[in-house]
Amino acid sequence: AQASAPAGDTAASALLREVFGHPAFRGAQAEIVRQVAEGGDALVLMPTGGGKSLCYQLPALLRRRAGSGPAIVVSPLIALMQDQVAALRQLGVRAAFLNSSLDARAARDTERAFLDGALDLLYVAPERLASDGFLALLDRMCAEPAGIALFAIDEAHCVSQWGHDFRPEYLQLSLLHERYPQVPRIALTATADPQTRQEIVERLALQDARVFVSSFDRPNIRYVIVDKTEPRQQLLRFIRDEHPGDAGIVYCLSRRKVDETAQWLEAHGIQALPYHAGMDAATRSAHQARFQRDEGIVVVATIAFGMGIDKPDVRFVAHLDLPKSVEGYYQETGRAGRDGQPADAWMTYGLADVVQQRRLIDLSEADESFKRVASAKLDALLGLAETAGCRRVRLLSYFGEASGPCGNCDNCLVPPETWDATEAARKALSAIYRTGQRFGAVHLVDVLRGKAGERIERWGHDRLSVFGIGGDLDDFAWRGVFRQLIALGLVQVDHDAHGALRLTEASRPVLRGEQTVWMRRSVKRPAGGRKTSGR
Ligand code: ADP
Ligand code: ZN
Repeated sequence: AQASAPAGDTAASALLREVFGHPAFRGAQAEIVRQVAEGGDALVLMPTGGGKSLCYQLPALLRRRAGSGPAIVVSPLIALMQDQVAALRQLGVRAAFLNSSLDARAARDTERAFLDGALDLLYVAPERLASDGFLALLDRMCAEPAGIALFAIDEAHCVSQWGHDFRPEYLQLSLLHERYPQVPRIALTATADPQTRQEIVERLALQDARVFVSSFDRPNIRYVIVDKTEPRQQLLRFIRDEHPGDAGIVYCLSRRKVDETAQWLEAHGIQALPYHAGMDAATRSAHQARFQRDEGIVVVATIAFGMGIDKPDVRFVAHLDLPKSVEGYYQETGRAGRDGQPADAWMTYGLADVVQQRRLIDLSEADESFKRVASAKLDALLGLAETAGCRRVRLLSYFGEASGPCGNCDNCLVPPETWDATEAARKALSAIYRTGQRFGAVHLVDVLRGKAGERIERWGHDRLSVFGIGGDLDDFAWRGVFRQLIALGLVQVDHDAHGALRLTEASRPVLRGEQTVWMRRSVKRPAGGRKTSGR
């Protein structure tokens, strides 16, 4: 990273050293600080751990020292706010927060300090900021000559419905620009896909802002996605072989699975703690504290865990269930290896995951347009899971960043076999069609493999032409075929009919023999990422 500060930014560099104790700026920080300190707007897209906080804290202090009033920081998470304020106070910066965790009296005291000019930075929850009471305070401050130094909007992707963390309160933040156009604004996020970026610009009226995009690559993270066979055993082998005694996070979709997996790991000699929103707050924060403080703890969690976690030496993030989107995958895996040392992002993935995620979308209460977005996002993630090419290339290209094969993902290290699956695809599609598009993958595999049984006979499927035509592949391989047919969009899961598979329009050319289908070969590979270590 470029570390030199441009001439004329000596005041910024001095503050960086004196207040924050950093010898130099990182990446685009110096440019961003200058843009905002000089009164311009900025949109900052920087990966987690990149150093976003400094991008508004430093210009806030610079402007304050030049005679301006305090800065306002909008942040969606109480825990994050409290950590930031505590850290700033340690550095001697006069920071405070206003959110629902304060009682009325403490909130009044903070507001008083704000009005008296006794604060440098005030962190505010978005709903509080948009309240009449707080807007009245802002009006009063802005009527003074010193005014407000700047508005920083942290986690700006929360304004986007396309983003993974939409918060309706964020929509109201457009009023900042309408009401206080003279105050510079800086919006920051670690989510950089083009749709989210566009929405942030539009909804926060940042058309005139300078946009700063940092690379999202996390070169020290090794991406590994394995075919799901026995997920817990695979996980246990992965932890024992590659990460004995290391701190890690295991993500599961449901609370029950979190509890069960944590218990199971404990029973197998791994120090594991559960974490999910269904637990009482005291236990949850105790588990979080132990994870932060002790060495070698594995937290098994729903995605509720991780926002606000600042543990640099997390050596692995494992997914037992598929995330909802590439952004989700990137955010969650991004909690590994913040210290820059080698770390693993490991996921086990199978047919049931695809079916389950599709089902969650289909059965959700959301409107059609939301479902379409969710479905497109899932497709992008399936593309990442199914690719035979470099995972990192795929991941970064999702965020609009071009790169070459990385040499540090499973597919680069051990290129997967691909095979001409046209024939198998046709058999599978025929089986779906001949059985009336009313059955799930398990039954269809039995039909293809010619496994007679009560259910098969009851439906007369043993008399179909497709019965037993799939003897050339085993169950595992057939599940892989169905999984990839779904991921490729040739087959869809019908959740009104209990997960029955149906053909899509896209399957017609394959059935007619007009299109070949290549698939990656499903193999029962060893669990691990570090296969190069010669195990
Ligand atoms: P983000 O909000 O982008 O996830 P933070 O602002 O929390 O990142 O910064 C991540 C870490 O990097 C923090 O520990 C911070 O002190 C450190 N950091 C930020 N800027 C610099 C810098 N210029 N030099 C050294 N360390 C820095
Ligand atoms: Zn790669």
